[in-house]
Amino acid sequence: MIVGVPIETYAGERRVALVPPMVPTLAKAGMQVRVQQGAGTEAGFPDAAYEAQGASVMPDRGELFSACDVVLQVHVLGGDHDSGRADLELYRAGQTVIGLLNPLGAPALARELADRGVMAFALELLPRISRAQPMDVLTSMATVAGYKAVVLAADALPKMFPMMITAAGTITPARVFVVGAGVAGLQAIATARRLGAVVQAYDVRPAVKEQVESLGARFVELALEGARAEGAGGYAQVMDEEFYRRQREMMTQVVADSDVVATTAAVPGSRSPVLVTKEMVEQMRPGSILVDLAAEGGGNCALTRPGETVRVHGVTILGPLNLASDISQHASVMYSKNLQTFLEYVVKDGQLTLDLDDPITGPMCVTHAGQVRTGR
Ligand code: NAD
Repeated sequence: MIVGVPIETYAGERRVALVPPMVPTLAKAGMQVRVQQGAGTEAGFPDAAYEAQGASVMPDRGELFSACDVVLQVHVLGGDHDSGRADLELYRAGQTVIGLLNPLGAPALARELADRGVMAFALELLPRISRAQPMDVLTSMATVAGYKAVVLAADALPKMFPMMITAAGTITPARVFVVGAGVAGLQAIATARRLGAVVQAYDVRPAVKEQVESLGARFVELALEGARAEGAGGYAQVMDEEFYRRQREMMTQVVADSDVVATTAAVPGSRSPVLVTKEMVEQMRPGSILVDLAAEGGGNCALTRPGETVRVHGVTILGPLNLASDISQHASVMYSKNLQTFLEYVVKDGQLTLDLDDPITGPMCVTHAGQVRTGR
């Protein structure tokens, strides 16, 4: 079975879907790896490193696609941007593609892949059950993004994070407020704590309180009916505007008292709720930072401009996109490890075996035999 790793074409993307140390591991499971020339360069993995591990490097993208049975990508079809769509011509019938497909944001992609006769697995649709955790790229990438968000905020803040007692006086620690304590939020809390900040956090899911406290942060208690906000699979569900209005009102003082606000609140398949208004930003001290990890889904702050940095009343609002790509090496290492585990799960004796009733691969398979399979 031949596995191909093309260069990522999504604008600014620096990750690669498979790193060289995975090549011998896949070989043991009956898979040969072919890599497009330069695929790992931006993540710190030169072509020679792939060759040293037994992979072949191919200069031509089209030839790579026609040579392989399985294509491994970070963004399938380049995340649906113009140059990525050029890949549609390159996939061939009977081929399998595995990667991030944005099945909820760009459902039309699946139709186009089905029409090409491609079998596609969307990594976003991996069920979040313990058994599947080693294959969970959303968790890996959110971990990286949560860390990087705090590093960005620390860099932009005109203060230091830790308390310091010096001959020039005592420096008080920075105050960080994390809104949304899922995977990224918990990593943001841990990173801010490691840098010495005093950290508070809030999530609509009350179950998170214990996890927040175990990281040394204070859980902000808001008198909201959080229990009703937890939906299927441990995710938050969309609440009505009155709920969000009360949440904003209750969070206003905590936001105003914080040097850094890191927002990570997301509801799968919906626009991110607006939890910090313009008026709330105006009450923050000049020099404060708001880093909006929900920028991809529209943002948790009303003033966020996705992909941009804006300054309002001396407050800097960062709206970073695709943050995991900034830590390209470790993000690629984690992504590859998840993919390796997935491949070992589906490939038996050098052949990809598909069981549509399998609780892990069944829901992830979005196109099969020319059909789009969704809503499972
Ligand atoms: P996510 O990215 O969808 O959302 C981030 C966080 O925002 C969530 O914690 C959510 O509750 C919170 N949020 C939503 N609306 C909010 C609001 N109005 N105010 C404050 N917070 C709000 O979530 P995620 O990080 O992908 O993880 C969500 C859940 O999945 C968690 O329970 C996590 O433990 C679980 N999970 C399980 C596995 C597994 O078992 N394999 C893997 C990863 C995550």
